[in-house]
Amino acid sequence: MPNSRSDTLETLCRDEYDLLIIGGGITGAGSALDAAARGMRVALVEKGDFASGTSSRSTKLIHGGLRYLKQFEIGLVREVGRERAIIHRLAPHLVIPEKMLLPLIEGGTFGRWATSIGLFTYDLLAGVTGDDRYKMLNKEEALQQEPLLPADKLLGAGYYSEYRTDDARLTIEVMKTAARHGAQVINYVQAEDLLYKDGRVAGAHCRDVLTDTTYTIRAKMVVNATGPWSDELRRADGSLGDKHIFQTKGVHIVVHRHDFPVRQAIYFDVPDGRMVFAIPRLNYVYVGTTDTPYHGDLDHIPAEPQDIQYLLDAVNQMFPDILLPKEKVLATWAGVRPLIYEAGKSASEISRKDEIFESESGLLTIAGGKLTGYRAMAEKIIDRVAKRLRRHFNLHFGDCRTKEIPLTPRPFRSVGDVQAFQARITGFLQDQKHVSQPELVAAYLVQNYGRQTEDILQKWATRDGKDLETAEHDFCAENEWVIRREDFDRRTGRALFPPPG
Ligand code: FAD
Repeated sequence: MPNSRSDTLETLCRDEYDLLIIGGGITGAGSALDAAARGMRVALVEKGDFASGTSSRSTKLIHGGLRYLKQFEIGLVREVGRERAIIHRLAPHLVIPEKMLLPLIEGGTFGRWATSIGLFTYDLLAGVTGDDRYKMLNKEEALQQEPLLPADKLLGAGYYSEYRTDDARLTIEVMKTAARHGAQVINYVQAEDLLYKDGRVAGAHCRDVLTDTTYTIRAKMVVNATGPWSDELRRADGSLGDKHIFQTKGVHIVVHRHDFPVRQAIYFDVPDGRMVFAIPRLNYVYVGTTDTPYHGDLDHIPAEPQDIQYLLDAVNQMFPDILLPKEKVLATWAGVRPLIYEAGKSASEISRKDEIFESESGLLTIAGGKLTGYRAMAEKIIDRVAKRLRRHFNLHFGDCRTKEIPLTPRPFRSVGDVQAFQARITGFLQDQKHVSQPELVAAYLVQNYGRQTEDILQKWATRDGKDLETAEHDFCAENEWVIRREDFDRRTGRALFPPPG
């Protein structure tokens, strides 16, 4: 249960912390957990809702990054492959294996041999074993798997394992785990300026954006984990050098499964040489993403008509029986990738590697990377923080422990455990009146909340006429720092996906 907001604010202003983290996306949350688990006194501020930046606007895959293989980023594929296995073990209800189909099309990006070698290498680097290993399908097998594919130009398909998640839920669960380990975290508090002592950064001047009150938070070290906003604090610190953030926008569209009835997740070619995902989720399918340079307002990132049309064209061109007009688009979301600028490279070519910048004042910035690699990124930055605390303050902290810290209360031990629990919740919901599509509702709850589903259902049991969605909202408001209804809707995907049923 989070502390009350005013208690947290009072504590934040009173104490001096070992570490202040600015930014409450997955990078900040992961770093807060890593640092708190090592015993550091940690504060974290987020100017909006937790995960309101890029960390709720991704493709929602915990993946090895097959396309990075095309760019020969072997180290990156190996690292994210290992990381996805770790996160799956730590939260098997939230990071769920999902088979991906890679159709081979006449004149397409990948030929049969290149795909087979690529998927073999991908599995090898990511340490994939058993049933999760890739398979090559012939044309008939591929069509059986996905009848919507174009039979006249289909040559076969690669069939391999990815993992899907809900990015905002993952961020929130990591943040809650950090708070359980003692991190003081607060949202709707913006770091406006840095505080210095003897030439070293020593905290930040912050503003409570709900009350317009200002506060000073003191800390021995400060980590800038503000993703696409990273350069703002580096500029304020006077340390924005040659290497800066290059923002590229990624848009997704959501359509009803009736209108695009794909059976399974597909990663397919687009005529301009890129590839996009179509991913079914509950009653909906989302398609994305675009990848174009972005220089606009980071707080309001629009999905422009041309972005939407690009994705509709991608679907209509690959699936001949589908003709999606723009009127069928139910929702969109757009996010900005915080990439590290590389001269002469296009948006799609720039590496997704993470990088740490350390300024003369001691401000540490961590940027780039992927949702999938958040734990390893956090380990790297907190190792650096620990070194600096030892050197400058003679403070000693242990090694990273996050490989073994489950990301949810009452964790599941295996996918089998999750399935058994989900079956029990489905049975319970089937016995209730007024729950339409109980299987989908159970899948939604368990795959987002794990065993905390029981807490939501308990709230619902004392419902006084409340519906299940209100019980879910009340749970989030009490346990997850939800301040505004629209944050809850966006976080749970309701702004993106109409609720099941
Ligand atoms: P953010 O999530 O943006 O967090 C930064 C936070 O800092 C924000 O919440 C912001 O409000 C806050 N902030 C900014 N300034 C201040 C301030 N002054 N004071 C307080 N708070 C502040 N990765 C994958 O692994 N799998 C995918 O499928 C995938 N798909 C993607 C698809 C798209 C379209 C995009 C754009 C990215 C995708 N990624 C994916 C990458 C991944 O989403 C990002 O790498 C990751 O979410 C970045 O997280 P972050 O915490 O660094 O940044």
